[in-house]
Amino acid sequence: MGLLLGCIADDFTGATDLAGTLVREGMRTVQMIGVPAPGTPLPDVDAVVIALKSRTIAPADAIAQSLEALEWLRGHGCRQYFFKYCSTFDSTDEGNIGPVAEALLDALDSDFTIACPAFPRNNRTICKGYLFAGNVLLNESGMQDHPLTPMRDPNLVRVLDRQTSGAVGLVAYDTIRRGAAATAAAFDAARRKGDRFAITDALDEDDLMVIGEACAGFPLITGGSGVAIGLPENFRRAGLLKSGIAADALPSITGHAAVLSGSCSRATNEQVTLMARDHPSFQVDPRALARGESVAQAAVDWATPLLADGPILVYATAAPDAVRKIQSELGADKAGALVEEAMAAIARGLVDAGVRRMIVAGGETSGAVVGALNVPGLRIGPEIDPGVPWTASLGNPAMLLALKSGNFGTPDFFTKAFGVLS
Ligand code: ADP
Repeated sequence: MGLLLGCIADDFTGATDLAGTLVREGMRTVQMIGVPAPGTPLPDVDAVVIALKSRTIAPADAIAQSLEALEWLRGHGCRQYFFKYCSTFDSTDEGNIGPVAEALLDALDSDFTIACPAFPRNNRTICKGYLFAGNVLLNESGMQDHPLTPMRDPNLVRVLDRQTSGAVGLVAYDTIRRGAAATAAAFDAARRKGDRFAITDALDEDDLMVIGEACAGFPLITGGSGVAIGLPENFRRAGLLKSGIAADALPSITGHAAVLSGSCSRATNEQVTLMARDHPSFQVDPRALARGESVAQAAVDWATPLLADGPILVYATAAPDAVRKIQSELGADKAGALVEEAMAAIARGLVDAGVRRMIVAGGETSGAVVGALNVPGLRIGPEIDPGVPWTASLGNPAMLLALKSGNFGTPDFFTKAFGVLS
């Protein structure tokens, strides 16, 4: 039936979050890593989320990348577009939320949209245009001290107004609580008055469903992943999206299984300890890497004869004291880069040895591995733990990947994950 929703996300984890939300709400979704190269194949899905890294780059670059992403999506004929940013509205007076949203509106020949970063499930709510994180205003939540995007004004009407040339209005919760028709009428009134954006209150998920319904006809919607929960229902109502399909179904891919862990977070340390107890494991030593030893080749040579007997584990994961010691000897950046490079080479070697189901632990580590394997995008599959789905690589060879950053997952995450597939 063709693509329904084309999304542009300003960072990778935000894109993952949005893609997971859409799958949960019944849309088959892929997440593309950057703007896809021309000719990149796209499976039969309902939604695409293009993950950019545009949150804190220069506004002109963020606009250029977002327009390029929009062009690619338009080439696939989406019915509606979504610009996804952080639920704490991470931005400065220069951008990038406002300038990108205006550029997308212009490109789509549209004169009005909403801005709704609310994510009530994660305690981000908007009341009378003021953004709350938990029980405190945004500028008391710690975000006022963010190193790149300090948020010192909790009033989103003012914040967005400083970033845009068009006027910014407010549709407050008292209107939204009167339902989708009243909310749509308020959007229409704001648009006729000359507003280009409406900051839209949302205190809970019912509000988000109402907002979603009221935005059904908008070419562009902007917000956090929260507001996306109301969009799939519009497509179902219009007969464009089937109900009751398994949106998270992945192709069945057989092959060897491996875990690669470059995360040193507390949860990952526990997960590695538990898996190493009853699975073959190989520890990557950053000091050996610094000495120039061919650790990656050694790891692949060690793994190859073991793969037929079940999942293996290769890890650089270490406890905080050990990491600090290595960092003081090698420098934190150098240690990190050496380990990431080794993990990337090991991933390539393991795929050559027949691994087709791979879990990667660590956000930066995942980025390095996905880059080394030339993965253009990921079809989003079933969740293993909240926020971490199995995915199918759209690249060659076809393989299943689970990318787990930092502190996600229960202690038995790794073994549980392979169980989800069987
Ligand atoms: P997380 O998602 O837990 O933050 P990342 O992969 O994003 O994990 O970051 C972990 C960083 O630590 C990576 O740069 C990785 O290369 C580095 N690293 C992994 N193991 C070690 C180690 N033993 N000593 C020092 N740095 C390490």
